[in-house]
Amino acid sequence: MANSKATNNYIMENDYQYKDLVATRLYCPTCRGSMPVRERLLLVLPDGDLYEYLCCNCGQTLGDKKVSKGHDFLL
Ligand SMILES: [Zn+2]
Repeated sequence: MANSKATNNYIMENDYQYKDLVATRLYCPTCRGSMPVRERLLLVLPDGDLYEYLCCNCGQTLGDKKVSKGHDFLL
C-alpha cells in the first residue's frame, strides 16, 4: 500500500532553508564552552531525516535532531 503522496512539485517553490530549526551553538565538553555547530545529514528515513550537529572547532558530535516529513509541528 503506497501511502506516499507526490511532493516533488513542492520543492521548486520551497527551496528556502529552515533557519528556525538550526541550532547555532551547543555546549561542547571537549572545547568546554558553547561552540558553533554545523549540521550534517546522518540518515534518511521514510518518515524523516536525521541530522547530527558537529562542533566546528573539534568535530565532535554534540547532538542530533530529526526532521519529520509530511508533518508540521503545531505547538
Ligand atoms: Zn568542540
